Parts: sequence; C-alpha cells; structure tokens
Amino acid sequence: AARLCSGAGGRAEAAGEDGAMLRHLARKLRASGPVTVAEYMREALTNPGQGYYTRRGGVGESGDFITSPEISQVFGELIGIWYISEWMAMGKPNTFQLVELGPGRGTLTEDILRVFKQLASVLSKCDVSVHLVEVSPKLSEIQAVTLTGGKVQPNPEDELAYMKGISKTGIPISWYRDIQDVPPGYSFYLAHEFFDALPIHKFQRTEKGWREVLVDIDPQVPDQLRFVLSPSRTPATQHFIQPEETRDHVEVCPEAGVIVQRLASRIEKDGGAALVADYGHDGTKTDTFRGFRNHRLHDVLSAPGTADLTADVDFSYLRKMVQGKTATLGPIKQREFLKNMGIDLRLQVLLQNSGDTATREQLLHSYDMLMNPEKMGDCFNFFALLPHHRLVHPDKKDKSESKSPLPPVAGFNELLLK
Ligand code: SAH
Repeated sequence: AARLCSGAGGRAEAAGEDGAMLRHLARKLRASGPVTVAEYMREALTNPGQGYYTRRGGVGESGDFITSPEISQVFGELIGIWYISEWMAMGKPNTFQLVELGPGRGTLTEDILRVFKQLASVLSKCDVSVHLVEVSPKLSEIQAVTLTGGKVQPNPEDELAYMKGISKTGIPISWYRDIQDVPPGYSFYLAHEFFDALPIHKFQRTEKGWREVLVDIDPQVPDQLRFVLSPSRTPATQHFIQPEETRDHVEVCPEAGVIVQRLASRIEKDGGAALVADYGHDGTKTDTFRGFRNHRLHDVLSAPGTADLTADVDFSYLRKMVQGKTATLGPIKQREFLKNMGIDLRLQVLLQNSGDTATREQLLHSYDMLMNPEKMGDCFNFFALLPHHRLVHPDKKDKSESKSPLPPVAGFNELLLK
C-alpha cells in the first residue's frame, strides 16, 4: 500500500524495538528536558548515525512505504514530458539543470531521463545535467546504482558535490546534501514526497493560549516517549501562529518554508520552474503527523529511527513563503494533473503494446492506484512555481505591439503538444 493520506484509518503498529536511537534520545531528554516535535523528527529521520533515512530509507515494495514513481513508470514519464513542455514554452534555452530534492531510489529521475532520451531529437541542442539533493548515504548509493550502474566518483575535488557520475543515458549527475550547494543556473526543480519528510512544529490551542507540543521521556515508564505541552509560549509559538488562526491544532514546517524561498529566489534570478508533488492541504488540516513501518501506520513515538515519519504539506504556507518572487499554480489533485498530462492515452498505448494478460492487469492496477480518488488520486497534489513572465506578459512600453498568447502550463491545463 502507499502511505495513507491523513485521516485514513489503520492500525497503529506497536513496535517494541528499543534501538540505539531511543537510548540516544532518552539520554538527551533526561539531560536537557523536552524537545520540539521538529527536533525529534529531524533526529529520528536524518540523524547521521541512526536516522531512518540514513540507515533504512525504506522506499519501495520491500520497504515501509511505496510512492507513485515506484508504482508506475508512467508517472515519471509524464513528469518528464511536463519539463520538456515547459522548456519549449520558455523558448528552449540551450542548457538546463534537472534538480531533484529527495530522489528516493532514483526511479523518478530514471523515468524522466528515459523520456529525455526518447525525445533526444527535440533536446538535441540542449545541454542537460542532473543534480540530486540527498542526505541519506544509503539512498544515494541506491540512486547511483539505478542511474549510473554504480559507476560514480565519490568526493570529487573542488566541488560542492559529494559524488559524481554519468547516467546510463550519458547525462552528468552530481549529488549534494543541500540545495544551496547546487550551482546556480537555469533549473527545473522536482520535489516528490520530499516536503512531507521535513520536520514540523506542532501547536495546541489551550485555555491559556497557544502552547507548543514537545516530546519528553515518560517518568513512569523507562525509555518510553510521550507528548507534553510547553508550560509557556515558545519562540516558535510567537513566530508561526497567525493572530487570525481559527484551528485548535496547527503544524508548521519552517524548513519547507526556507527551501521554497530558496527555490523561488533561484527561479526568479536564473529562470526555470519547480514542480512539487505531495499529500497535503491548503492550511485547513490539524493533526496529520504519522509514522509508517512495513506499509502500516506506526506510533510516531515508538522505536524512533525504525519508521518513516511524515506530515501533510501545507501548500498555503509554501505559497506564502514564495513571497511573490515567482507565480504559483495549484495545488491541483494528482488525478487531474495526470489526466491533463495525457495518462489515459499513455495507458492505452502501453496496453496495446503489452502481449500478456499479467502485464495488462499490472498496468490497470497501477493506473488505479495513481488515479482512484480513494487511493492516491485525490490526496496527492501538484503545485508549481513559475517565473511571472511565464503566466503574464511583462508590461511593455509600446502597447501597440501585438502579443501572442502565452501557451498554457501543462498539467494545470490540458497538454498541447505541437
Ligand atoms: N522522491 C522519492 C522519495 C521520497 S522519500 C519518491 O517519491 O519515491 C523522501 C526522500 O527525501 C528520501 O530520498 C530521503 O532520504 C530524502 N530526504 C529526507 N530529508 C531530507 C533532507 N533534509 N534533505 C535532503 N533529502 C532528504
């Protein structure tokens, strides 16, 4: 099963695994008191020694959760077409970087690069390079195998990249730990199920005002964690809760805000576009923090480091953090985006080309997973950042000059392939 969208039911798995991460956290909490949920999540997911992504990184069928690119090749192919369609609409610049944040097993990039290869005649005069932002050594190794067959150079000299290689299709690939290390330049950014993995702060409205939810050690039970409320307002409460807030419980992901700001600044300065796809809401949901292990819901405070922790992405917050530097489109539901991108036609072609019943059934099953509103079709969303001039003609002094209409942005409108 895919990671369920928040609110979907499921049995929380009681894991009794007392690992090194729990001992590390318990020591820390006993020594210096409760930590924010964001700090807990950061430790549990990306601690350099024991973090979930660092060690386990369980994307895929044999892991803890499955994602759209792992379900169907069509997903990545349509995203590849989105980038080509935007590249064409923006006047076919002679070079671009494809920058993916949190590439998982590298499957999505692999599917995109296959489309780039199939459309090599269209891209022939364009210099393309791939830049992957990944903190997990374990997943970067898997990405290297998927994309280059394992032929990579670690720690290249004079580079901010920690690894370099050439894709099986001949495109240079570099790996970084931080988006800030990626060289500037015209870039197409991609973040699929990335923002949901970034640490969130949680706040609860009480009779005494807003309080931050913290993680502490339970004094009654050794090495068991529990949620507590901060006794007074914390700096985060003051920063992140808007006076007009009407919800009783709010989650905020400042790191997502910082990264989106960086994307917006880079696009404003050097051009390109960003596509963000994730489950999320538009500033309406409350408690969405949850854990996954072996494809089941998992208690977020139990056996940290052994389960994926995630929270819905607040697209209204991302839009706010763009601060008008770029235009934004969406969020639009995954099933609408993929329909606009021509998924039905692509499915028909694949069905016609597949000889055996098992493959056909697999194609129909994966289509249903991606598109069914009860599965991933409705709760996953697409959101884009685009330069303002991509959507509105910049004001020209000479008003008499006739302006041809700007081509619609595929996915958010029907794809028009010329
Ligand atoms: N996009 C992939 C994987 C999603 S899982 C897919 O859809 O299949 C989240 C990915 O983000 C993993 O690759 C994880 O290692 C990476 N990640 C998590 N936190 C990160 C951070 N702070 N910086 C960079 N990568 C991070």
